[in-house]
Amino acid sequence: MSIRGVLLDLSGVLYVGTAPLPGAAEALARLQASGLPIRYITNTTRSPRAAIHRQLTDMGFAIAEDHVFTAPRAVRAHIEREHLRPWLLIHPNLKPEFADLATDDPNAVVLGDAGDAFDYHHLNHAFRLLMNGAPLIAMGNNRFFMEDDGLSLDIGPFLAALEYAAGVEGLVLGKPSAAFFQAAVADMGCETREVVMIGDDALADVEGALKAGLQGWLVRTGKYRPGDEARIGVAGAQVVADFRSAVRALLRT
Ligand SMILES: [Mg+2]
Repeated sequence: MSIRGVLLDLSGVLYVGTAPLPGAAEALARLQASGLPIRYITNTTRSPRAAIHRQLTDMGFAIAEDHVFTAPRAVRAHIEREHLRPWLLIHPNLKPEFADLATDDPNAVVLGDAGDAFDYHHLNHAFRLLMNGAPLIAMGNNRFFMEDDGLSLDIGPFLAALEYAAGVEGLVLGKPSAAFFQAAVADMGCETREVVMIGDDALADVEGALKAGLQGWLVRTGKYRPGDEARIGVAGAQVVADFRSAVRALLRT
């Protein structure tokens, strides 16, 4: 099937931790030069979009900041639409993204990858708000991600703990939410089925994209573990060695 637009996951596809993957910057430049529209779609919730953009630039990736779709910004848009006052269990670095929102007398719980802030005191405070009827909103449900020093727990396990304790279901607004993929697809002016999502997370990136009607390619870098493709519960996934191979395949089509 022809491909007229590309959605790229960031961490684990273009870089790991603070290091670009070998050849990724050159491959991205080739892909950009081909004229295919590209958007970047990330559940990274440890920094605001401006900081993610700066980090990408420092690593040699030339990307327009407004082409980066982040889960925190999708959550922020939802909060504003619904006039919610969030209690934020998020990473300290992400606080500027929400600094101007009303947070007094909170009536919603917002969950990001809070890192060390995921302690008993904070999780229990979130639990009590949920028991009082506050909705639970999450910036993703990824199980883990790859850092410089190894795999690390992501939002998913903490989301599951709160859902289990309070007997509620959280609203996930990052990947694999179809609405999140669709927002980026719409920004490119493409048909959903003509867009490929390339990521290192078999479920949030590839299965999520396939379920949303996109094509899905899994790279064997970042958090990828052998056999991950077998966990994808829908047909149609393709597996490529890395982002360089993905770009070679895209430019052949
Ligand atoms: Mg990733």
